Amino acid sequence: MRAAVLTRRSWIEILEQKIPPTDADEVRVRIKAGGICGSDIHYFQHYKIGDFPVREPFILGHEATGVVETVGENVKDLQNGDLVVVNPSHPCKNCSYCFSGRELLCANMSFLGSSRKFPHIQGMFSQSFTTKRSQCFKLPSNLSPHHAAFAEPLSVAMHAV
Ligand SMILES: [Zn+2]
Ligand SMILES: [Zn+2]
Repeated sequence: MRAAVLTRRSWIEILEQKIPPTDADEVRVRIKAGGICGSDIHYFQHYKIGDFPVREPFILGHEATGVVETVGENVKDLQNGDLVVVNPSHPCKNCSYCFSGRELLCANMSFLGSSRKFPHIQGMFSQSFTTKRSQCFKLPSNLSPHHAAFAEPLSVAMHAV
């Protein structure tokens, strides 16, 4: 598969990448649409965000939708062809926020398309993306993947309000 890889400041290359195996609890999603966030623009223009520089080739994108193209053997409630939106937040499940059920405030969050940790957490500007089934939310098939890609920024705004 090909992916849009930020390889240096203001430079994105379309590079061939290996497709990882799909584990039992995972699905592989053929990406249909991905929003370009303000943070993606920062990475592209400044090669960092805040205190976190880009230190290795890096795939951006954390607001993506796509169609399921492979399901792991334990995944019974999604099938090929289902439209899904991918949750980019991976809480640690081991901090006081996570223990109190407020995982979105996790103090040690792993977030797709973020250089906060090293190795960086690669994002979804690629032809396909493999992730845990629990990170995917099934969408109505009549919803446009392009509209649905706004689910993440919309939910941020709704939470703030
Ligand atoms: Zn964003
Ligand atoms: Zn946590």
